[in-house]
Order: sequence, then structure tokens, then C-alpha cells
Amino acid sequence: MSRILDGNRIRDQIKSECLPRVERLVARTGRPPGLAVVLVGDNPASEVYVRSKTKTAAELGMMGETITLPASTEEDELLAVIEALNQRREIDGILIQLPLPHHVDAQRVLLSVAPDKDVDGFHPYNAGLLSTGREGPRPCTPAGIIQMLKRYEITIEGKNAVVVGRSDIVGKPMAFLLLQENATVTICHSRTHDLASICRTADILVAAVGRPALLTEDHIKPGAVVIDVGINRVESRVEAERIFDAKRLADFDRRGSLLVGDVHPGDVARLSSAYTPVPGGVGPLTIAMLMRNTIECAERRTGIE
Ligand code: NDP
Repeated sequence: MSRILDGNRIRDQIKSECLPRVERLVARTGRPPGLAVVLVGDNPASEVYVRSKTKTAAELGMMGETITLPASTEEDELLAVIEALNQRREIDGILIQLPLPHHVDAQRVLLSVAPDKDVDGFHPYNAGLLSTGREGPRPCTPAGIIQMLKRYEITIEGKNAVVVGRSDIVGKPMAFLLLQENATVTICHSRTHDLASICRTADILVAAVGRPALLTEDHIKPGAVVIDVGINRVESRVEAERIFDAKRLADFDRRGSLLVGDVHPGDVARLSSAYTPVPGGVGPLTIAMLMRNTIECAERRTGIE
């Protein structure tokens, strides 16, 4: 029987550990840790994410501020907004909600965030700290996955880990974090030859691709731990028939679409020793880790151990 790794449970643990740290910061500095979220344009999905980030911050007694700018905002105007946030003492963390409008150079914008307020851990300075094993803010999703593995007492040291996907946001930092935990790490991507046989060497398989149920029984070594980062919406009936069992297909027919990860849900449940479901696996961890990163940035900025 495969074990389901419950992201909601780990999220709640991480959030409840944040509360005393917020209280300690308030006691020491007279103010709560402050998170500023910058949202440019009116992407409905981004609006939902931003709302849930500031709501979670408020739940934990933190200060959450959203700066909403129109889609027509020029790059220089956005850079000026970020510079003002860099200077504000009561802001400990700055998050630029992606994607940004096409006329804005996202790399330049992310570079403009002060590294000590970069709660997403996307700044090249912080990527450098990660790759050299030094302390600093880590990208939330992969850092949450490490928390999940540790809290479920899954051994990482000495294991073969395969990460499918090499984005700066998930795949690469995931690989570095696993390496730091002494796994033997392989990174795969769209040009990898014979993906299935490489994946089958994995004791820990992390899928961060963005392709519905790309990884199937051919990719999973029996007994592997499988972490599915992907969030994909399936809208085609033919695709749904390949992926879902009869019960889920009935749900699909009722709703017209369903979410699925990058790993085939039936195959992973049958073959793995433990796996993250989609939804309810990796997804809930990201916001909890964002809160933790903001608190840690505040602690570093105020010299609290
Ligand atoms: P990107 O699109 O930035 O990266 C996808 C990676 O997958 C690339 O490295 C790409 O390779 C690789 N890839 C694409 N097709 C294949 C293939 N057929 N075989 C092997 N590798 C392939 O995506 P992200 O890293 O940003 O996100 C990945 C997924 O995770 C998405 O579904 C996203 O929605 C989800 N996500 C979930 C989060 C959560 O909180 N649960 C947070 C962040 C992301 P190449 O580099 O060669 O193009």
C-alpha cells in the first residue's frame, strides 16, 4: 500500500511553527514581519494566489501589503516601486507575482529586489548561496518538498534522486537542495534521452514538468518515493480516459475538466512506496514556506538567531 504524503498536514505544521516566531519578532522589534506582494496586470489566477498569500500572512499576525499596478505599467515605473520597497524598513520580504506582462523584462525586475528581502529565493545572489551551500532564502516550492520528505522521515542521504525539469524556480533549486541533503542527483529535461530508464533509477523521483501525467508506470521504480509538482488542467475527454479511473472520469464528465499532476495518478498509487497527490500534495506547501521565508528574512535583518 502506497503512503499518501499529505501537503495540507505539513502546511499546517509549518504555519503553526511560524506563530511563536512572529510573536518573538513583534516582542523584539515592536512590529510584525512585513511582506509586500507586487501584482502587475489583471491575471485572474495571479489575483487568487496573491489574495491567499496576504490572507495567510494576516492569519499568522504578519503584515501583508499588496501593491497592484495596471498591466500598462512601464518597466522603469515598476523598478521604482520595487526600489521604494527595498528601502522601507518595515518590509522584510518582497514578492513579485509572476507572470509579468510581456513588455516587462522579468529577469531585470527580479534582479532589482534586494537579495535580503527576496522571499522567493529567485535572485541570482540567493541562487548562488544555495548552490554553494550557504544560508539564504530558498525557493518556496522545493524547500517545502524537503520539509515534506523530512517530516515524513523519508531518508534522502545516499538515495538516487531524479528531478525531471530544470527551471530556475523548481527543478534546479530542487536538485541543489537534494544534493545538500546528500542525495545522488540527476536532472532531466526536454532533451534527455530515454527519460523512462533514468527515472527508473530513482529512489526519489521529483516531477516538475507541466505535462499532464507524463510520467507513467514506465518511469517509476517499484517502491520509489514520488513527488509530483505539476499542476495541469485536463480538458480533453481522450486525455482524461488515459489518465483517470472510472470514478474520476465520472467527475470529469460532471465538471468538464480536472486537475492532474505530471505523474499518472493510478500508476503512482500502485507502484510507489509514498507519493504526493494532486491536488493536496506539494501545492499547499508553497505559501506556508513563503511565510517561513518572510519570517526568516525578518529574523536575519534584525539579527535574531
Ligand atoms: P517550466 O515550464 O519553467 O519548466 C518545465 C521543465 O520541464 C523544463 O526544464 C523543461 O525542459 C522540462 N520538460 C518539458 N517537457 C519535458 C519532457 N517531455 N520531458 C522531460 N522534461 C520536460 O515549469 P516550472 O518548473 O515553473 O513548473 C513545472 C510544473 O510545476 C508546472 O506544472 C507548474 O504549474 C507546477 N508548479 C507548481 C507549484 C506548486 O506550488 N505546486 C509551484 C511552481 C510550479 P527544458 O528546460 O529543456 O525546456
